[in-house]
Amino acid sequence: MQRITILGATGSIGVSTLDVLARHPDKYRVYALSAHSRVEELAAQCAQFRPERAVVGTAEAAQRLAALLAEQGVRTEVEYGEAALCAIASSAGTDTVMAAIVGAAGLAPTLAAARAGKKILLANKEALVMSGQLFMDAVQAHGATLLPIDSEHNAIFQSLPQSYARSPKAAGVAKILLTASGGPFLKRAVETLENVTPAEACKHPNWEMGRKISVDSATMMNKGLEVIEAHWLFGAPASLIEVVIHPQSVIHSMVSYTDGSVIAELGNPDMRTPIANALAFPERIESGVAQLDLTVVGTLQFEKPDFKRFPCLALAFEALEAGGTAPALLNAANEVAVEAFLDSRIGFREIDRVIARVMHENPHGAASSIDAVMAQDAHARRAAAGIIAGQAR
Ligand code: NDP
Ligand code: MG
Repeated sequence: MQRITILGATGSIGVSTLDVLARHPDKYRVYALSAHSRVEELAAQCAQFRPERAVVGTAEAAQRLAALLAEQGVRTEVEYGEAALCAIASSAGTDTVMAAIVGAAGLAPTLAAARAGKKILLANKEALVMSGQLFMDAVQAHGATLLPIDSEHNAIFQSLPQSYARSPKAAGVAKILLTASGGPFLKRAVETLENVTPAEACKHPNWEMGRKISVDSATMMNKGLEVIEAHWLFGAPASLIEVVIHPQSVIHSMVSYTDGSVIAELGNPDMRTPIANALAFPERIESGVAQLDLTVVGTLQFEKPDFKRFPCLALAFEALEAGGTAPALLNAANEVAVEAFLDSRIGFREIDRVIARVMHENPHGAASSIDAVMAQDAHARRAAAGIIAGQAR
């Protein structure tokens, strides 16, 4: 029996994870669940899965959750705050941690899971983007297992040999081909992007996701973050990572080998596939996803990304090349800008302008410690908020 903690249980990835777990009660038991503010949803999940512990963001949310659970006779222990998140991620009561909090808020608990040597199913790409080397070092030093949930990285993981040890050269890897749908604005006239609404930006053609990552997909910052994520997960320099636009999202990514072979993982776009893959690895379990019928898909298309249409993609490559705390600067500026866009405080194209200014007006340093990374994160957030306050609509 694998005992699971889900950080971010009420989100899109969290709900998909519970959907897969519910299909295999003989294999998995939920140890702990977390949410930030969606207390009713978390209470319903607790009633169904009966975890030992549940964590929310504030004392007030914890009180509401405890009251809801008491009404239903559910005996889950309720806690709140970052220390409690770290505790459910590192407890001896759990074997596997699904890291599915969105954004920098997920870093501390995901790192706690790494330091406790857990099996980590990593959806929270921002944590790895921010802390790169430090996170990978913690995984290695404490014997943790890191399995990618992001569909592209899970596809690459499946397309690499099982013995792969973060050395593309040793495995004969010529290129990692990261596929991207191009999001909702792949074909829209660039001049009209100034005025797109949050609702339009969140309407992804192929995937149902949380609002932040949906906006990231529309700007292609998501792919930029994924390039950095691939760099750390697979030990590949930026020059070996190529982004390929593939609007159907059927090929989830590929590995191109020196002998000319290209290995890909294909499937219907549904996150339950990579979740089931990582949960059961190296075995296979049923995920609830329909089998892919390529004759129904018919056509698979590919094109090169347009860096002028998607300046965020170029900014992410720039941050990866710059190294140190530059990716933390990029990530924090992006989180603040996306939130401002979702609140209709800035326009869509302001997102890339704010990030570019934060990156170019603020020095980055060495990512020598988590404290240094968090200081860069805080500094970038203040800088981004200042720029936004100066140009708010
Ligand atoms: P959602 O916005 O749907 O869910 C986010 C989860 O994190 C919710 O449970 C939310 O709680 C919780 N949360 C939000 N803010 C905080 C905070 N400050 N502290 C603690 N918990 C918090 O996001 P997704 O599920 O879409 O994405 C989660 C992660 O997975 C992201 O890093 C994303 O990039 C990555 N990912 C997602 C994919 C997808 O298909 N959705 C695909 C690949 C990667 P509450 O509900 O209470 O607000
Ligand atoms: Mg992805």
